[in-house]
Amino acid sequence: MNMNSLIEIRETHVGKGVFAKHRFLVTQLVGTIEGQQVSDPNYGSAYCFDLENGMVLEPAAPFRYVNHSCDPNCEIEFFDEHDPNTEQSSRSLILMVCREIQVGEELTIDYNWDATNAIRCLCGAENCRGWIVAPEELAEIK
Ligand SMILES: [Zn+2]
Repeated sequence: MNMNSLIEIRETHVGKGVFAKHRFLVTQLVGTIEGQQVSDPNYGSAYCFDLENGMVLEPAAPFRYVNHSCDPNCEIEFFDEHDPNTEQSSRSLILMVCREIQVGEELTIDYNWDATNAIRCLCGAENCRGWIVAPEELAEIK
């Protein structure tokens, strides 16, 4: 299905965000996060994801714009493929639904950043941690 019929990019109070044009059910695959894989483990940007295999993914639109929430409705999972002909393995990131999403709702994930990268969180969730940081790292900020 065409991604543009499922989601759209809109402006939010923290920059661009990804919104549902469709109802998404729990465990539904939203899509693969396309982008450039960088082999430098010290590479950093506001959007990049650690693939935990020595590679970092700099995501392309539209999923580049999935914002953080402390109460997210999506999560990121690794998807590994092995090519038996070349003996090469490759890892992609997929965006999965973890809570039902209604039309017009923003798609969010938990960034789970390290304390060293944490910034103030403006997600507005009832259980907001106050910082964009992994729960187990929160104590290091306070
Ligand atoms: Zn928050």
